[in-house]
Amino acid sequence: ESRDSQPVMTRARALLRSVFGYESFRGSQGPIIESVVAGQNALVLMPTGGGKSLCYQIPALLRPGTAVVVSPLIALMRDQVEALKHNGVRAACLNSSLDPDERREVEAALWSSQLDLIYVAPEKLLSGFFLDRLAGLEIALFAIDEAHCVSQWGHDFRPEYMRLDVLRQRFPQVPRIALTATADTRTRREIEQQLLSDGAETWVSSFDRPNIRYQVGPKLNARDQLLGFIHQRHRDASGIVYCLSRKKTESVAEWLNSRGVTALPYHAGLSANERATHQRRFLQEDGVVIVATVAFGMGIDKPDVRFVAHLDLPKSMESYYQETGRAGRDGLAADAWMVYGLQDVYQVRQLLAQSNAGLEQQQAERRRLESLLGFCESTDCRRQQLLAYFGEDHPGECGNCDNCLNPPETWDATEPARMFLSCVYRSGQRYGAAHVIDILRGSVSEKIRRAGHDRLSTFGIGHHVDKKTWYSVARQLLARGYLETDPEGHGGVRLAPDCRPLLRGEQTLAIRRDAAGPTRRSRSATR
Ligand code: ADP
Ligand code: ZN
Repeated sequence: ESRDSQPVMTRARALLRSVFGYESFRGSQGPIIESVVAGQNALVLMPTGGGKSLCYQIPALLRPGTAVVVSPLIALMRDQVEALKHNGVRAACLNSSLDPDERREVEAALWSSQLDLIYVAPEKLLSGFFLDRLAGLEIALFAIDEAHCVSQWGHDFRPEYMRLDVLRQRFPQVPRIALTATADTRTRREIEQQLLSDGAETWVSSFDRPNIRYQVGPKLNARDQLLGFIHQRHRDASGIVYCLSRKKTESVAEWLNSRGVTALPYHAGLSANERATHQRRFLQEDGVVIVATVAFGMGIDKPDVRFVAHLDLPKSMESYYQETGRAGRDGLAADAWMVYGLQDVYQVRQLLAQSNAGLEQQQAERRRLESLLGFCESTDCRRQQLLAYFGEDHPGECGNCDNCLNPPETWDATEPARMFLSCVYRSGQRYGAAHVIDILRGSVSEKIRRAGHDRLSTFGIGHHVDKKTWYSVARQLLARGYLETDPEGHGGVRLAPDCRPLLRGEQTLAIRRDAAGPTRRSRSATR
């Protein structure tokens, strides 16, 4: 430690207590603050709720001049400024939501150096006039919040962020701190290149949420499985259930209510009034389950959400992490519970096949979805995989996920997999999994007779394998990319190039044996 660091950190801790009312720094807040106060640039990667704001708010108070905070989200800006003012900090924001009087007042305070922090929208900061006036002001630091918005390949791209390199050019002596909760290596590289190209210290916090228990299982009867899970582990607790469609949130909420669980739907199609009421009841009452589309959750800070359940697959690993991360903010035990089935895998594959994004973006999208499917089907520690996705090592198995607690069996599915693939081929690569399974099991339906599929050499060769197991095989073949969806979107499956070695007998296939659900084990699946 340098000789100067003692007094700075003593002052930082005094501010932490007197202004923010906290006893000690969390994680790497302390060293980040020390480094920024000393004038270093910094890249801060910290999960949502980790405490990023203090990393620039305290340096803002310790360094002379006004700190300029760039943030794209007006609502969050306002909340932060209110909280700071409440603590006696001279903070304000400039964005399109101010009326002319308010704006004049804020600007007067800013240009007469009476603010500790000014929050601005990027387009405001980048206006030539504003930058010119800033040049005449003493600036403590620039903080760039939600820095991943600079990434063209991410889902939050904002073109103005690309232009923020003007800060480096015009204010080379002012430290910059870029902050984000998105930490995959590619985004990180882009932030470094675009915003911090003259060097920065990088601070990566752990994304681990050790109190969250991850469970992923096959979808059988999703509602009953959900109810069983709630009864078994979370009677009368607050929870969030995510569904893909608005209609489904309503029907699931209604059904849960009929089974004695207080549940409310939440989606963008409800009136503003209904949304506000449902959100308020969820926040204030005990034991309310909110059944929502992904529209719900942004900016919701409820610490005692005991579970997050997914009845449909999230759209990526990032979404899964973010959505499940709303459970257990209080640090007490919480569950992330998900069921998914053949249909879900099909939908995901279909989305990929039909995507008309640019090639590079399509590849990024594919990587994201493949990771998610791989995560679902895996028999390894879920936490290790989730963290590995964000570039983080978890030492050993976690002991708090389904695969650690209840190690799944795998079985040699080479033979049934080959039967399935050759049956897909012989029936013309046009039919859905259900039909292929009927052929394999030797069912004599009208559809099969009409198509002449009872005369195929694969007809009935799989009669000894039960239907549930066939669905499990089909789902895993699709998830692992041995099968593709048909491009016309009629629900058919066809062979993917990757299946050749398996079909030719050069490769074997071991797959996980499906349990009856995330919380129960089934009997042996093959008869
Ligand atoms: P992020 O921006 O990373 O999502 P915030 O800065 O909003 O996180 O902080 C999340 C919560 O943690 C806030 O309620 C904040 O007051 C609290 N917090 C941050 N740092 C500390 C600390 N050192 N001690 C206690 N609480 C903290
Ligand atoms: Zn584990």
